[in-house]
Amino acid sequence: MIKFLDLKKQLASIENEIHQAINGVLESSSFIGGQYLERFESEFAAYQCVKGCLGVGNGTDALEIALEALNLPPGSEVIVPANTFIATAEAVTRSGHKVVFCDVNPGDYTLDISDLEARITPQTSAVMAVHLYGHPCDMDEILRVTTPHNIKIIEDSAQAHGAEYKGKKIGGLGDVSTFSFYPGKNLGAYGDGGAILSNDLDLLDRCRRIANHGRKSKYDHAFEGRNSRLDGLQAAILSVKLKHLDNWTQNKIDVADFYTDSIKHTEITIPVRQPNVKHVYHLYVIRTPRRDELAKHLNEQGIQTGIHYPISLPKLEAYEYLGQANSQQFGWVCGESLLSLPVGDQLTLDEAKVVAAAVNEFR
Ligand SMILES: *Cc1c(COP(=O)(O)O)cnc(C)c1O
Repeated sequence: MIKFLDLKKQLASIENEIHQAINGVLESSSFIGGQYLERFESEFAAYQCVKGCLGVGNGTDALEIALEALNLPPGSEVIVPANTFIATAEAVTRSGHKVVFCDVNPGDYTLDISDLEARITPQTSAVMAVHLYGHPCDMDEILRVTTPHNIKIIEDSAQAHGAEYKGKKIGGLGDVSTFSFYPGKNLGAYGDGGAILSNDLDLLDRCRRIANHGRKSKYDHAFEGRNSRLDGLQAAILSVKLKHLDNWTQNKIDVADFYTDSIKHTEITIPVRQPNVKHVYHLYVIRTPRRDELAKHLNEQGIQTGIHYPISLPKLEAYEYLGQANSQQFGWVCGESLLSLPVGDQLTLDEAKVVAAAVNEFR
């Protein structure tokens, strides 16, 4: 059996460190706030080369809080790629703004710049730049088309810990960035977790207050906020895992490079990695018109696969009200042909060989 993701094998490789970290939190009772959270926040900010980091409850909260802190005019239009996880769009609606879907590139699955430019109106006040599957968006191009209109950029980096664009880590390339530490993400906690990063420390301070009930000091609140926190146990676990992240990412890159070199099939399109980026391969997503048959063929040989995402956001019932479902643009229709191959941080090259051979044998 070749697993899509093997968290148990990953744990086995770091078990002692994890138990030590958990014991440290238990013994110091640093469950909420405290030294472990502060340490992880500063370690993660340093890792992503961004000035400040705020731990929050999950990646969805991170998006909502970041959007709220930007103080966009009520009812603004916010541009969201058609192919991403629903959380990216949900945050827009929940913050009182209007989702405008945008096409993605058929090569790297990030925002299509000419479609983005076409969707900008006087009401557009932000763009959700999703570094989907771990591939950075073309940030220079996004900034080129948005800067003249004073549009804010939120980097949804939930799938892109450690990714780089033109030699710079993602996460500090827009106004604010958000991360998820969902267990299956490249850097995953043992439960929920998320973070907001920014070089704008005032903005980050607004995020901190929103995430902490609008609090000024104990029981003195400047406004109504909410509760969203990364807890001490998850922070301590993440500090342990962060030390291994570059090795794990390198393993994912090696597996992905092997697939890219070895998969040769007339009906299958492999993902493009643009020059000047470090793609961290949260997912290795191929495309084929006979997707379900290929998934079945692989499953019969004990190879697990995934689909990210089977239904594009504009086609979901949740967004029927927008009336944007009927486009034939790539981002709207790609869900029918996408298939994610196993590219876990613990996958061996021998396993990758089995996967590539099984894909190439597909008839
Ligand atoms: C996982 C994910 C999120 C949400 O993160 P959670 O921690 O699950 O709330 C948001 N955006 C993208 C692109 C994601 O992949």
